[in-house]
Amino acid sequence: MRSFEYITPASLDAALEVSTRNAPHVKLLAGGTDLLVELKHTANGPKVLVDLGRVPELKGIEETSAGLRIGAMVTHTEIMESRLIAQHAPAMIAAAVTIGAVQTRNMGTIGGNLVTCVPSLDSGPVLVALDALVTVAGAKGKRQMPITEFFVGPRKTALSPDEILVDILIPAVMLGRPASFRKFGLRKGQALALVNAAASVAVEDGRIADTRIALGAVSPTVIRALQAEAIVTGKNVGDTAALREAAEMAVTEARPIDDFRASAAYRRELIAVGTFRVLEEALAGATAG
Ligand SMILES: Cc1cc2nc3c(=O)[nH]c(=O)nc-3n(C[C@H](O)[C@H](O)[C@H](O)COP(=O)(O)OP(=O)(O)OC[C@H]3O[C@@H](n4cnc5c(N)ncnc54)[C@H](O)[C@@H]3O)c2cc1C
Repeated sequence: MRSFEYITPASLDAALEVSTRNAPHVKLLAGGTDLLVELKHTANGPKVLVDLGRVPELKGIEETSAGLRIGAMVTHTEIMESRLIAQHAPAMIAAAVTIGAVQTRNMGTIGGNLVTCVPSLDSGPVLVALDALVTVAGAKGKRQMPITEFFVGPRKTALSPDEILVDILIPAVMLGRPASFRKFGLRKGQALALVNAAASVAVEDGRIADTRIALGAVSPTVIRALQAEAIVTGKNVGDTAALREAAEMAVTEARPIDDFRASAAYRRELIAVGTFRVLEEALAGATAG
């Protein structure tokens, strides 16, 4: 690892200024669980590391009129312990507890997870299922976009090099919406997802009025299974056959690969099982009130 200057700005403006001034020889540091591993294996790393840990605008979880705002520097442990998230978006907790081990969750942030943007990222599917928005800030000001537009490809997001991810918003209309998350790995702990899946549902008068299904680790980035959603939407809550049909459809919408952790064929099985289970669990949450 090459030596670098370490800067700890105390505001978002200061962080933007110092990163713009040092571009392109600069890297942003959140919890470091991805970045420090990467730097140890990079001979030609950044000359300046900007630690975001003291930037107040990136912290905190709060309910606003727009929805639930989660700062990019919020750690996975903070998500697990948040009363607001337990109340409004508990599927986020189901995802956070599967990330790494205690130490990784104590240091790793939701922002770092989203920006690293590996296909198997565990924060992604629930946020897609809950139609989350992300806010990014750069020299030209702030912009907000749906999380599906933020994910561009493996390790590639819509962030420009001079931008910082500020926060994630679960829109007010999605708060409390029944949702579920499932992750399949080679072990129960400390395992990257072979497949992960999330779903959210809205139920009206015994019918499924709206459905969002998101799948991870089965395509270059998190995808929505739009055709599977279409099968389920409009059906009666007790229509298990529709859930099975949707699960099979989701398999055709994904592009799983063969790699050293699992075959594409095994991943296809997991997509069907995972899609069925997250739909079933989200619907159970809806009917339980
Ligand atoms: C042992 C181990 C196990 C793991 N297990 C899992 C797992 O099960 N599931 C999973 O999804 N991940 C896992 N990870 C990956 C990692 O822990 C997570 O992705 C974590 O959330 C990264 O967050 P961080 O704060 O540590 O990011 P950092 O390492 O600090 O940063 C990661 C990248 O994001 C950029 N960045 C960070 N914050 C911002 C911001 N606000 N704006 C712009 N750019 C930013 C950094 O410049 C860097 O490029 C694991 C990692 C380890 C080491």
